[in-house]
Amino acid sequence: MYYVLTNDVEQHSIQKNRLDDETARLVVEQGLPRLLHLYEKHNIASTFFFTGEFVEKFPRVITNVKKKGHEIGCHGYSHAVDKALDILPYETQLRDIQKAKELVEQEVGEIKSFRAPALRINRDTITVLEKLGFTVDSSVASQRFDGPFTFGSRRKLKWLLAHRRPYFMDFDDPCKRGGSNILEIPISALGLAHIGTVMRVIPKIDHALRQLLFYESRVCSKPIVFNIHPNECIYEEGIFQPARRTSNLFSYFFADVIRSNLKLRNLGEKAVDLLEREIIYAQQRGFTFMTCQQYRELYEDIHNNNG
Ligand SMILES: [Zn+2]
Repeated sequence: MYYVLTNDVEQHSIQKNRLDDETARLVVEQGLPRLLHLYEKHNIASTFFFTGEFVEKFPRVITNVKKKGHEIGCHGYSHAVDKALDILPYETQLRDIQKAKELVEQEVGEIKSFRAPALRINRDTITVLEKLGFTVDSSVASQRFDGPFTFGSRRKLKWLLAHRRPYFMDFDDPCKRGGSNILEIPISALGLAHIGTVMRVIPKIDHALRQLLFYESRVCSKPIVFNIHPNECIYEEGIFQPARRTSNLFSYFFADVIRSNLKLRNLGEKAVDLLEREIIYAQQRGFTFMTCQQYRELYEDIHNNNG
């Protein structure tokens, strides 16, 4: 039974609901150290996906994360809503992801794992990832249903039909099995996603979800893939209004107003405590923690041995 713990590092402020330099600083000074300390305490290796913009601001931070035994991956170049990969043409996606990959690699050497900002990818993204030498993607959340609560949610309806277990992606459809060299390791979900936000906002429901997912993992050897953000592990002082990121009133109400109010629960050290409970729960049940690339090696070993 395998547990792939993943961290998305970006300068998005949950309280201000926008990208913010001050948030990036707090992530470096508080969010990241809290997570690294927790993982060290429980002797865990995980994968940290960094945006290119974050690395430009704080290049030395990723070296420190790598030194602690974690895998470094790419989280695209920018986390801005209007730079989402699934609305960009192929050439722009290639340029942005290549730029982000180079920024990261200047600091820590070759990287091979990818997660898209806001999990927004399309068929062109797979061709781009393959061309740039990535071998793992974790941007699909099979059977996660976001309703109108996130940007790009119409395209994310496809997740309902995606494979639950890891699979090599099809060049025409990120949710289908196919001939690419990109192993998709889907984020655990069953209606709701097993991620930091759900863990913080509705901890009791998340615990029920956890029990179901862990049962499935035991029966089908599907890895648990959890996603936390270091910006959930900080608390920013002050009163904030949700920024309006869209002219569509419907999207504004669901994706900005309701969502940003809910998302303020259990931020900071409380988030770290909740994550520690998750880690202990998994370790007590015999799960082995590993990085995305370690999982890929294991996947290949198992599949080669089965002929
Ligand atoms: Zn992100």
